[in-house]
Amino acid sequence: MKDAAPQPIYLADYTPPAYLISDVHLTFRLSPSATRVLSRISFRPNPDAKSGEFVLHGENLTLISAAIDGAPVSPQMTDTGLTCDVPDAPFVWEAEVEIDPAANTALEGLYMSNGMYCTQCEAEGFRKITYYPDRPDVMAVFTVRIEGDDPVMLSNGNLVAKGDGFAEWHDPWPKPAYLFALVAGQLVNHPGSFTTCSGREVELNIWVRPGDEGKCAFGMQALKDSMRWDEEVYGREYDLDLFNIVAVDDFNMGAMENKGLNIFNSSCVLASPETSTDANFERIEAIIAHEYFHNWTGNRITCRDWFQLCLKEGLTVYRDAQFTADMRSAPVKRIEDVIALRARQFREDNGPLAHAVRPSSFVEINNFYTATIYEKGAEVIGMLKTLVGDAAYYSALDLYFERHDGDAATIEDWLQVFEDATGRDLTQFRRWYDDAGTPRVRVTDDFADGTYTLHLSQNTPPTPGQDNKPPRVIPVAVGLLGSDGDEVRATEVLEMTEAKQSFRFEGLNARPVPSILRDFSAPVIIQRDTSPEERAFVLAHDTDPFNKWEAGRTLAREGLLEMICQNEDPDERYLDATLTMARDDSLDPAFRALALGLPSQDDLAQALHDGGTTPDPQVIWDALETLKQARAQAMQDTATRLYAQYQVTEPYRPDAAQSGARALANAALGMITRLDGGAQAQRQYDSADNMTQQLAALGCLLQAGNGDPAVAAFYDQWQHDRLVIDKWFSLQILHARPQDTAAVAERLTRHPDFTLKNPNRFRATLGALTMSPAGFHHVSGAGYALLADWLIQLDPLNPQTTARMSTAFETWRRYDDARQTLISAQLDRILAQPKLSRDTTEMVSRIRE
Ligand code: ZN
Repeated sequence: MKDAAPQPIYLADYTPPAYLISDVHLTFRLSPSATRVLSRISFRPNPDAKSGEFVLHGENLTLISAAIDGAPVSPQMTDTGLTCDVPDAPFVWEAEVEIDPAANTALEGLYMSNGMYCTQCEAEGFRKITYYPDRPDVMAVFTVRIEGDDPVMLSNGNLVAKGDGFAEWHDPWPKPAYLFALVAGQLVNHPGSFTTCSGREVELNIWVRPGDEGKCAFGMQALKDSMRWDEEVYGREYDLDLFNIVAVDDFNMGAMENKGLNIFNSSCVLASPETSTDANFERIEAIIAHEYFHNWTGNRITCRDWFQLCLKEGLTVYRDAQFTADMRSAPVKRIEDVIALRARQFREDNGPLAHAVRPSSFVEINNFYTATIYEKGAEVIGMLKTLVGDAAYYSALDLYFERHDGDAATIEDWLQVFEDATGRDLTQFRRWYDDAGTPRVRVTDDFADGTYTLHLSQNTPPTPGQDNKPPRVIPVAVGLLGSDGDEVRATEVLEMTEAKQSFRFEGLNARPVPSILRDFSAPVIIQRDTSPEERAFVLAHDTDPFNKWEAGRTLAREGLLEMICQNEDPDERYLDATLTMARDDSLDPAFRALALGLPSQDDLAQALHDGGTTPDPQVIWDALETLKQARAQAMQDTATRLYAQYQVTEPYRPDAAQSGARALANAALGMITRLDGGAQAQRQYDSADNMTQQLAALGCLLQAGNGDPAVAAFYDQWQHDRLVIDKWFSLQILHARPQDTAAVAERLTRHPDFTLKNPNRFRATLGALTMSPAGFHHVSGAGYALLADWLIQLDPLNPQTTARMSTAFETWRRYDDARQTLISAQLDRILAQPKLSRDTTEMVSRIRE
């Protein structure tokens, strides 16, 4: 145990800030190891405050001087900053501090990335820049002067002056400190412009390192599309004359919505056909939209405190998903999102890290940028929209923007807007925000005298700190299919509010086949015993694309579970139904590619665990291999036909149509490779002119055990491109045999291009290890030890990324005693490190409990 266990803070303890700020003037004198930050802040007592104590946050700052109303003061230093006696009236605080960006490897506050200065302030990074009330409910107008010799010096808002060695910025919109940003360096811009719906011209720029200019066009188009979409769908216009995006190589997360100056992990903005896959393009478009949409849902309306994080994140994820659905294919986007939700959020909700969409306590807020806050937060909004209907949803949003523009708001404010706009009582709905855990909905049915009845019962297993879960309101979208496959009842949303409830459908001629939870209308687990024949029937006939896909996925999962538990052969019904589906050229190729996917190793492990069986990762891997081999055999002719038919001959475009064709052709290539040992994959590798084709072929070659020459050639070709080399690191690990995974990863950590300082590279290597369950959980324990070794090395440099990656261990209680012993020894070894960060301490101790 640690001597001083970090203390949680509680939502219930919220108190308003003692002082408010009118405006802030900051001057930065840039120098890599000794940057000076001068602040001049106009404070006034908050009439709504309960205490009058003047407290400023500060971390790793050297205070040079401080003054109040021009008179020097000597503040009292505390663990988290300082306090000071202040007048009982408005006053001006001035301070000068020194900071060391070059030594900042945590990538929070002001740091250096490849010689460029940049900042990351969400959630609590601003306190590493200067003394400040670093909380989102303190909003202020910022004026920033940057002094230095970099050719480009950027901050939030509009440029008001620029001269030799300085630049001055002014952001007219009051904002919390977490939205502050500064960038300075040798950057080049890809320019653009946008005319808003009211006719204002906005200057757009994507700033990159010289050499990356050619990778900005796609991001620029995505930005313009996002700006237009938010005007058309939500009536939200951009509110400054300038919008800047900067790409940085060293970044803990995907991107950050700083007002007027979004900062992106370069992997989430730079794109070119030669270096980025179709999936990369889709993700980049979504992240650019996400950060842009934050301008209204996050910046204009921000969060009162960090417990309300889902207020901006859930809503903004929901909005970016709507955007992607509109830009591309709505069903494909929905299926992709559900796959990701189950892989990350259900996993979290069913383990030791489960927490509510709005948690009531935390130790380190960095640890709460989770799938639950983001993805489940978005699902909750989707349910709200389903329950109130589209028109009421948009009028509630209009009211939200009107009522709360400029506010630091709460979930109560958000729900109040919906209650006022719709007249609905949302008391029970609130449980989605307050209660953790994934509800199980058990479904049985009966049919008599033309009436079909669905009996639903709900139950949510306990999660840490929450034993009892009262019933929630669950929108269950249901349609009914007739025996010839026709839809005999269109989709209807059943509103489940009780623990047990029955719903009747009258006037039917024969017993229908139900299609339940269409479009995945709620983030729940449906439990229903049914036959493989019925799954195959739904796969063949459902008009709801999500449930059509789901039927195939369930059929595959159930067959795999039988292979795993009863040593059965691959399920013929699955093979037949899949073959029919794959051959059906009336279906979108992208849909077919998704329907050819199989449940992940982790999904199967969770399903086994839920059914009371201890999963053996090697047995799961073997079953998947056996099924893939059998499927390749059964689909040989079809795979050859699809591969030829869906070759794209036009010039590369990363749009939905071309990406879907490539996805299906590459799924076919995977099957072909299982029979030809990689001959076709080698031809594709040799002739590929885009990264999607090249990487898919490389994956197939590695899978076939023939990857060495291509691995070497790939490195030679791309060694100058760090983002492509990240792919090279991951792929070798992801495609290793389970018994080799840890050794391959270990060898790559000794490669000269491996570095602890770049989170992308660290994730490409150690993250890939954890994403290969059979390899990571190999009985030798080598995977566990390797990950723990590197987490221990990374923690002193970068706590945030270390803590995030420690979640690889969150499923450990599922496994057998031998593995649990191995894992708990590694968790204890991590916890025993002297000076372990607060981030990692919180995460690993919650996992270890
Ligand atoms: Zn966000």
